[in-house]
Amino acid sequence: MIAPVLPTYARAPVSFDRGEGSWLIATDGTRYLDFGAGIAVCALGHAHPKLVAALEDQGRRLWHTSNLFHIPRQEELAEKLTAHTFADTVFFTNSGAEAVECAIKMARKHFSAAGQPERHRIVTFEGAFHGRTLATISAAGGAKLVDGFGPLLPGFDHVPFGDIDALKAAIGPETAAVMIEPVQGEGGIRPVPREALREIRAACDEHGILLILDEIQCGMGRTGKLFAHEWAGIAPDIMAVAKGIGGGFPLGACLATEHAASGMTAGTHGSTYGGNPLACAVGAAVMDEITAPGFLDAVNAKAGYLRQRLGELADENPDIIEGIRGEGLMQGVKLRDGHAAADLVAACRDEHLVTVGAADNTMRILPPLNVSDADLAEGVARISRACTRLRAA
Ligand SMILES: *Cc1c(COP(=O)(O)O)cnc(C)c1O
Repeated sequence: MIAPVLPTYARAPVSFDRGEGSWLIATDGTRYLDFGAGIAVCALGHAHPKLVAALEDQGRRLWHTSNLFHIPRQEELAEKLTAHTFADTVFFTNSGAEAVECAIKMARKHFSAAGQPERHRIVTFEGAFHGRTLATISAAGGAKLVDGFGPLLPGFDHVPFGDIDALKAAIGPETAAVMIEPVQGEGGIRPVPREALREIRAACDEHGILLILDEIQCGMGRTGKLFAHEWAGIAPDIMAVAKGIGGGFPLGACLATEHAASGMTAGTHGSTYGGNPLACAVGAAVMDEITAPGFLDAVNAKAGYLRQRLGELADENPDIIEGIRGEGLMQGVKLRDGHAAADLVAACRDEHLVTVGAADNTMRILPPLNVSDADLAEGVARISRACTRLRAA
């Protein structure tokens, strides 16, 4: 008999009752160290007092009005986002997939409004993840994502990850945009080399097409810059943001330059909930924390410390760990053939450490950005014990 909740998730046999900073307390009282942060969502940990205050305050004032009216909270958050990024304008959504949907529609509309409706194709990369809607699975194209859900949305050209020559060859007279995650998340924490990002930007400029970045997982301070593309010294034309931006409250955003957004006039796009006052009140509080002086410096210091501990872990467990990769507090532990990342995730859970699996036999480490060094050391010690469990199994 089917469960009352549609069984589309392979869930771990744990449920949590409360969270405090980087810790989760299970319904049986067991404390787990959280190196998953709700898949890079709880950027400031659990029950952050400023986020709780923002939500409670807005909750007592006003929950929802719809976008038939001006929403001051939304304008406030849009101003914070545009002040700190390449973007001139922001469309708010409830999720990452919707932010990518907006990006795809915006790129197509940009060229159709400019009298070039034939320019509608988007080049994407193998191993990508852009969400679970029909457009976003069509964009990513991975077999596991699309199997059984056809016919897919046409208009995407997939090239191998990191293959700049294949990318350049795929750009033609019908190409509107290139879309890429600066660090693939679900794909196994695979950073795109900075030089490759600069080459992609240059190829887009050369052909007069748009660069769309999906920074849903790697953005909002996760890599030690507010957005990961800043490390490469480039800027996109359109960017999808979600996960960390709401700190746990469902919120996404599609950021764009005025030029890229030129086709998005009144009536062309919308959302009932997108940018609702509750979400934007929390989003503004998250932005204030992450952009506060010194916050990202602290993330980079913590990232350096984590990377050092993980390097030692890899040196001590060469039979299990093939390598460590990632940027900032977005790290992947790639396992050797013969060991499964899912088994290491389960062994970490047995050590009361939450981590997240990913493709390419990689375990993701995504702690809250305000995690303490002591908790980072404790987490790596737990991964070390999990490796011992794996070896004994
Ligand atoms: C999580 C994620 C998405 C999808 O976000 P949802 O909120 O689940 O729709 C899209 N792109 C990337 C890179 C992601 O990590």
